Amino acid sequence: MRAQASVRGRVAGTVATVATVTQLTPRMTRVRLVDESLLGLAAVPGQTLKIYVPDLVSELPVSRDYTVRDYDAARSSLDIDVVLHGEGPAANWARRVRPGETLEFVGPSGRYRPDPHADWHLFAGDETALPAIQAYVAMLPVNACALVYIEVADAAEEQPIPGAARQTVCWLHRDGREPGTSTLLDDALRAARLPSGQGRIWLAGHTPTVRGIRAQLLNRRGVDRAALYVKGYWDRRVQ
Ligand SMILES: Cc1cc2nc3c(=O)[nH]c(=O)nc-3n(C[C@H](O)[C@H](O)[C@H](O)COP(=O)(O)OP(=O)(O)OC[C@H]3O[C@@H](n4cnc5c(N)ncnc54)[C@H](O)[C@@H]3O)c2cc1C
Repeated sequence: MRAQASVRGRVAGTVATVATVTQLTPRMTRVRLVDESLLGLAAVPGQTLKIYVPDLVSELPVSRDYTVRDYDAARSSLDIDVVLHGEGPAANWARRVRPGETLEFVGPSGRYRPDPHADWHLFAGDETALPAIQAYVAMLPVNACALVYIEVADAAEEQPIPGAARQTVCWLHRDGREPGTSTLLDDALRAARLPSGQGRIWLAGHTPTVRGIRAQLLNRRGVDRAALYVKGYWDRRVQ
């Protein structure tokens, strides 16, 4: 039975206990939920959860999207990896949260899975897309070919990309530039040599950046629209 909670004016979600909080890199924290409420959730890594975190100004819960980094049905555990980007309800929550506290979320949702028949796969994004990229690359079969481009703050933010597939990983370091202000990903994808055959491209991160890259892939590279999956993950909020 999944625990339900209701907060005035929104859909009741699953409530789960935070078991551990682990600093993966200087700017990425893993929050592991372990709870009976996760039994039967049937989550798949790469899917999305809408988590509810307190807004310190309004003191009301606000929702933010996070990726299921891992789910273990036998242990009733689920991981999310949160970028500690600066000030924001979710980033602030991830800095403060301690084992024993609870988190409410709705989901998981999302049906994207890497196409097992594609000749090659290209995954690209910033650090917010890294949990999804790690999950998708891990799903690829041993004979698959994955090209991965990830923009992060600096070398300390690099993480292993697990999986059996043949992979070429290119880390792009902002080295002092603010997230969302660099052209690193765009430049790298302009220069990338795409293998022959039927490929699939998955791209996510700072919304204006990924929209720009989508346009160059479609208009300049002639990538087939059906081969391209693009999702904006975050943008500057107008306060
Ligand atoms: C489908 C989906 C899956 C996602 N998965 C993940 C995930 O697994 N891990 C993860 O960390 N993020 C993930 N994100 C992105 C995350 O939802 C956003 O970064 C979110 O805005 C963070 O909320 P916040 O409350 O911390 O900040 P907000 O209140 O949303 O924003 C506060 C300020 O911080 C800025 N900001 C927000 N995010 C960032 C950032 N990453 N870097 C720099 N500035 C930022 C905003 O522009 C704003 O100015 C995902 C987004 C989507 C749509």
